[in-house]
Amino acid sequence: MNKRQARKSNNISYVDHQDLPFLLHYFNNSCAYCAKELTLEKGYPNSLEFDHYISLKESDDIHEDNYTVLEGLTYSNTVIACRSCNRSKGAKNPEVWIKNSFNNADEIIDRIEFYFSSTSFSFL
Ligand SMILES: [Zn+2]
Repeated sequence: MNKRQARKSNNISYVDHQDLPFLLHYFNNSCAYCAKELTLEKGYPNSLEFDHYISLKESDDIHEDNYTVLEGLTYSNTVIACRSCNRSKGAKNPEVWIKNSFNNADEIIDRIEFYFSSTSFSFL
């Protein structure tokens, strides 16, 4: 059993397209990191992508190029991000990356952590 199968068997709730409006609402249609407005059109620096806040770093990890491919993205570890931030962040430690990338790092981290704390009550 790989890690993804282990998570599935553990009854963890997964993000699904239906949750996109909630994510867009919470993050104000904007990247969770740089706060630029996102587009659903692909191929732009501000194209919407789902980001694992803490990278799963698995060989069978999915690529977030297509927002309809959501397997493995759990509510308590998924934010919406622009393509630029998602590519820049990669598999780096999220807090280190945010602190190195943004002046308002504490505000960004607080907003994301509050989101995770609120979703964990609703869905897990
Ligand atoms: Zn961004």
